[in-house]
Amino acid sequence: MSKIYSAIVGKNIRVYLGDTTDLVQKAVGLHHTSNVSSEALARTLTATCILGKLLKNKKDVLTLKVGGTNQIKTVLATTDFTGRVKGYISNTQADIPYLTSTEKIHDAIGLGGNISIIRDFGLKEPYVGISHMVSAEIDQDIAFYYKNSEQQPTAMKLGTKMDDGITCAGGILIQPMPDATKDELEAFKASEKKIGDVIEKLASDMSPEDIIKSYFDLEVTMTGEFDVDFECDCSRDRIARALMTVGPEELKEIISVDKQAELKCHFCNTSYHFTETDLIEMVKALES
Ligand SMILES: [Zn+2]
Repeated sequence: MSKIYSAIVGKNIRVYLGDTTDLVQKAVGLHHTSNVSSEALARTLTATCILGKLLKNKKDVLTLKVGGTNQIKTVLATTDFTGRVKGYISNTQADIPYLTSTEKIHDAIGLGGNISIIRDFGLKEPYVGISHMVSAEIDQDIAFYYKNSEQQPTAMKLGTKMDDGITCAGGILIQPMPDATKDELEAFKASEKKIGDVIEKLASDMSPEDIIKSYFDLEVTMTGEFDVDFECDCSRDRIARALMTVGPEELKEIISVDKQAELKCHFCNTSYHFTETDLIEMVKALES
């Protein structure tokens, strides 16, 4: 089971460490992604799980959208308070032939795009935060977003280890809280430079506590452990409702040309088939 671990360092630095190997393996299996696309999807899913831990209420939903300009135009993931996450990538077969590893993916995403963090607190409108991408590596872009748009200093590192498939995926988020002392702010800055090896450490037999301790000279208190999993909430009903939004005229057109419809949930790749009779029922329902 994939897990997010939370800790407090000193008194005023919060840390979230995620081991998302299982859920990333599941997502990559569903989407049949190339290595570069797997890396981008893994980073987006892991970041979403970690940022989801910053939500405060049971009904809150967080969505992270990476808007690229090169081979990968969109990577999107969404999570709820309970730790369920789902996501997709617009190009499952991104490939940068001259890259020998997936450590750097900015050329696949491309600069000039945006990163969006959408928080739905169940109010009329969701809260949408948007920022241009500074690195197109996703982790540094999220850190930049928090620093600039929310005046919240943030360090983040995301990644995977691959060997004929994903063998480890995860990441870390570090944020000093408003009451952080000078020493704590210095410790935060020092940690920012050390977290580049977090995936190596997650792939080793180090415990989450030892990994976090390795980045700080201050006292580390583990405060929580949360299950996270890739789980899609699509259903035949939901997909049917989405299909009906095209309207009765368009549905009649589908009936006369194709006599059936096949729709795929882009989060989990499940296909839903609707027969001519199903489509006629939809038209009836819309016209009644
Ligand atoms: Zn689905």
